[in-house]
Amino acid sequence: MAYDPNNIFAKILRGELPCVKLAENAHTLAFMDVMPQATGHALIMCREPAETLLDVSPEGAAECIRMTQRIAKAIKLALDVPGLRVMQFTGSAAGQTVPHLHFHVIPIRPGESLRKHSAQMTPAAELEPIAARIRAALAQTDKT
Ligand code: 5GP
Repeated sequence: MAYDPNNIFAKILRGELPCVKLAENAHTLAFMDVMPQATGHALIMCREPAETLLDVSPEGAAECIRMTQRIAKAIKLALDVPGLRVMQFTGSAAGQTVPHLHFHVIPIRPGESLRKHSAQMTPAAELEPIAARIRAALAQTDKT
């Protein structure tokens, strides 16, 4: 299927819709998931107009993983969690709901079950202080 340039993440990339940003570079944008499955749930998307992992260039895929690792390290430090779940859904049959390639980084806390996927909105005002902690941690983890 052809890439849909009007999908919600394409609009975020073009600055037509807001997001709570964590980090960005020429290839990727990392931001908070607006319907987090756990506190600190982040998304990393490529700037390349690719719907799934099967459509992106190998270089774009590598850049996504590079940023995903960077964000994962910062989340672990900032939120002091013992584990992280890194997910990528390729195709609606696999559960993909936004047709623009992205990776999820979800903090895992002992005894806490994840909230449902794409289910419950958290206001930006609540996401921002968590994002600020993750951005601050990046300053440290980027040195490692
Ligand atoms: P997928 O199902 O495609 O792997 O995941 C899409 C993710 O994007 C979901 O976790 C959902 O909560 C999140 N999401 C959907 N719409 C928006 C939005 O407008 N802004 C942000 N920041 N996240 C979104």
